[in-house]
Amino acid sequence: MHGLMMDLPLNISSLIRHADRYHGDTEIVSRTVEGGLHRYDYAAAHRRSRQLANALVALGVAPSQRVGTLAWNGHRHFEIYYAVSGMGAVCHTINPRLFPEQITYIVNHAEDSYVFFDLTFLPLVEKLAPHCPAVRGWVAMTDKAHMPDSSLDLLCYEDLVNAHSDRFDWPELDERSASSLCYTSGTTGNPKGVLYSHRSTILHAYGSCLPDALNLSARDVVLPVVPMFHVNAWGLPYSAPLAGAKLVFPGAQLDGASLMELFEQEQVSCSAGVPTIWLGLLQHVRSNALQFSSLKRTVIGGSACPPAMIRTFEDDYGVQVLHAWGMTEMSPLGTVNTFKSRHFAWSREQREALQNKQGRAIFGVDMKIVDDQGNELPRDGKAFGDLLVRGPWICSEYYRSEGGDPLRDGWFPTGDVATLDQDGFMHITDRSKDVIKSGGEWISSIDLENTAVAHPAVAEAAVVGVAHPKWDERPLLVVVRKPGETLTREELLKFFEGRVAKWWIPDDVVFVDSLPHTATGKLLKTRLREEYKDHRLPTA
Ligand code: AMP
Repeated sequence: MHGLMMDLPLNISSLIRHADRYHGDTEIVSRTVEGGLHRYDYAAAHRRSRQLANALVALGVAPSQRVGTLAWNGHRHFEIYYAVSGMGAVCHTINPRLFPEQITYIVNHAEDSYVFFDLTFLPLVEKLAPHCPAVRGWVAMTDKAHMPDSSLDLLCYEDLVNAHSDRFDWPELDERSASSLCYTSGTTGNPKGVLYSHRSTILHAYGSCLPDALNLSARDVVLPVVPMFHVNAWGLPYSAPLAGAKLVFPGAQLDGASLMELFEQEQVSCSAGVPTIWLGLLQHVRSNALQFSSLKRTVIGGSACPPAMIRTFEDDYGVQVLHAWGMTEMSPLGTVNTFKSRHFAWSREQREALQNKQGRAIFGVDMKIVDDQGNELPRDGKAFGDLLVRGPWICSEYYRSEGGDPLRDGWFPTGDVATLDQDGFMHITDRSKDVIKSGGEWISSIDLENTAVAHPAVAEAAVVGVAHPKWDERPLLVVVRKPGETLTREELLKFFEGRVAKWWIPDDVVFVDSLPHTATGKLLKTRLREEYKDHRLPTA
């Protein structure tokens, strides 16, 4: 017997319709590429999304066709999200920081029909266009006055929108139909497409608003620093309208000073981004003796948040850090670190240790850890193994992939190595390919990096395994000093004593001016491994 409840499909258009109807005058503020701030509200964003949907129909975009974007976080990108998915097409966000060859591959693999781009990316688009014959048009996300000279026959975003009526009835779509597409920024091999559905997106948006997740409400002002081309800015362009929160988009200016100005001016209460972004912000705040007047919490994830960063935010600035973990394949939210009541009775030391973990699964995500044979390992906070996940917003296969079924007995292998404790807290030991295998035992590169950046003279650190005749591999520490610091190899290695097991202490230190990062701000370990593969350790 079926229940007798309305069978309304979960459609992305319902988010913007809700935000318009119940939070119509809540603002969306964007720093534009052309310069200055753009300010409007959910009602206006909904109206322009409907105009854009009409424009897409007029351009001949059909349901299921992919529409690409090369764009920063801004109001036009937000309208594209809703117009494209709302009309039944697939919003394909492309990471402009990838190499042009990778972008060409992605655009062609996705068979994008049109590509919308911010003016910043015109030189890139001109390079791509000859290699992307299936793209029917390139749309500059600006108005007539700012249309650039180009060898390409460009379309103008504002002309498209203004030429169409705002009467558009969002179609009722099968909730399992594809809504958006995002390619993983794989460090090896070709990027792989993760194809989200309307259903997965709505469920993820519900889940991420929960109090023990991002705790979003209509009283929040949310500034996603994480780009809309990196797993849909962790879903914030969907969860903010669901909650009725004000949105602030930072555009292309992600330096500390520009972000701080927006935080203060718009009274931002909640933000989200990868650790490298916060490094720049904290440096700016510290060197100018500033304080946050409205920021209550910030979500940090994408790579392990160094404990030192959590301490600085919480102790020096009174900003709660929500350490979170996820993946492109998981929409992305998997875990968020928030305490249970009993943890408040713990000692400061115990609480800090708990906070360094990646957090608990939110409802909608199930996790387990397994050994090499696939046997489930105990949830005791000690045993570590391959982390597997499943749930309705987790990828079941990649888009048009020749790689076969990625699942293992219905579970998605994350490629992360982790522990799970009795309270459900997950702690990432490492990416399985980054873990250092020394004499048959494993050393966590993340733990060593976290220890290094806890040193007051260290700005950033990476640890990679280097071949060793006796131990197979030993850790090499590659470090960027803070400006003006003169830290030596010996001083830094001494700092590890008592902080990690003796046999974990790196065998050598190399000081560099900067570290390589991936297009989503993670340390590019493949490059470092390649660069230092012949490094002679003093212990070898
Ligand atoms: P991406 O799909 O590019 O977002 O990358 C996902 C991967 O980033 C995960 O599988 C982890 O290896 C890593 N990652 C994300 N968040 C964290 C975190 N809080 N701590 C450690 N690693 C993380």
